[in-house]
Amino acid sequence: MDKLLTVDGLTFQPFITNEEIQKQVKRVAGEIREDLKGRVPLFVCVLNGAFMFAADLIREAAINDAHINFVRYSSYEGTASTGKVKELMGLNEDIEGKDVVIIEDIVDTGLTASMMVADLRKRNPRSIRFATLLHKPASSKTGFKPDYVAFEIEPKFIIGYGLDLDGKVRNLKDIYVIKED
Ligand code: 5GP
Repeated sequence: MDKLLTVDGLTFQPFITNEEIQKQVKRVAGEIREDLKGRVPLFVCVLNGAFMFAADLIREAAINDAHINFVRYSSYEGTASTGKVKELMGLNEDIEGKDVVIIEDIVDTGLTASMMVADLRKRNPRSIRFATLLHKPASSKTGFKPDYVAFEIEPKFIIGYGLDLDGKVRNLKDIYVIKED
């Protein structure tokens, strides 16, 4: 198979092309626009992994009055979740009465997502919605269900389009999956 990629001794194969990503970004952006008709959302991009998805999704949603902010959590080391979620950068904005749309790269165990939502809920927003590029329902340890999912996938390790392997390869336009032989 062509276009195999080796990173830190691991082999990855092409999984989702940027063209397919953009198609689903368009669909999800349409759903968000429809659900939040007449409201002014606050988009909260979860760094670092969601930066590319958020940039495409927010532009596609084309809601000029929307605000955009950023948070940062960490749970992964290498290719596995540590099971512990650390807040590295919180939301420095009053969200009371606002319609918050969290934008995440991937929901794996669901620990980060459920912690984040519980945390933000305490600050009395009007609503919280959760959009994710990728969802691995089979890895769930929390039963967390995102409101918007671009792609539902098997529990395999993914890189590209913002997702990293130890900080590398976030730049890739397409999504790659680890090759198991
Ligand atoms: P969770 O808390 O749901 O287990 O994990 C969420 C975070 O783990 C994601 O935001 C992402 O940073 C990281 N993560 C989970 N699965 C993958 C994956 O397949 N590839 C990469 N690069 N990161 C992942």
